[in-house]
Amino acid sequence: MILLRERTIQEPASIICDRCGRRSDIESDDVEFDEYLSLNRIGGYGSIIGDGTRLQLDLCEYCIKELLYPFARINEP
Ligand SMILES: [Zn+2]
Repeated sequence: MILLRERTIQEPASIICDRCGRRSDIESDDVEFDEYLSLNRIGGYGSIIGDGTRLQLDLCEYCIKELLYPFARINEP
């Protein structure tokens, strides 16, 4: 028999755009929450970011469109 124990976990509740400050809350059933782009990267050996330097960024879809669309490959359905 396996006995269970109570356990508290943390999960994302809100996300804030690092560029414009737009906030989206997961509990508001806001579809924008799922449209954020989150980047979490660590520079490797020889990287111009810096070896071992962590780069984190959250962008809302409005900023994604403004900043990345000029360079992105867009394939509409
Ligand atoms: Zn934004």
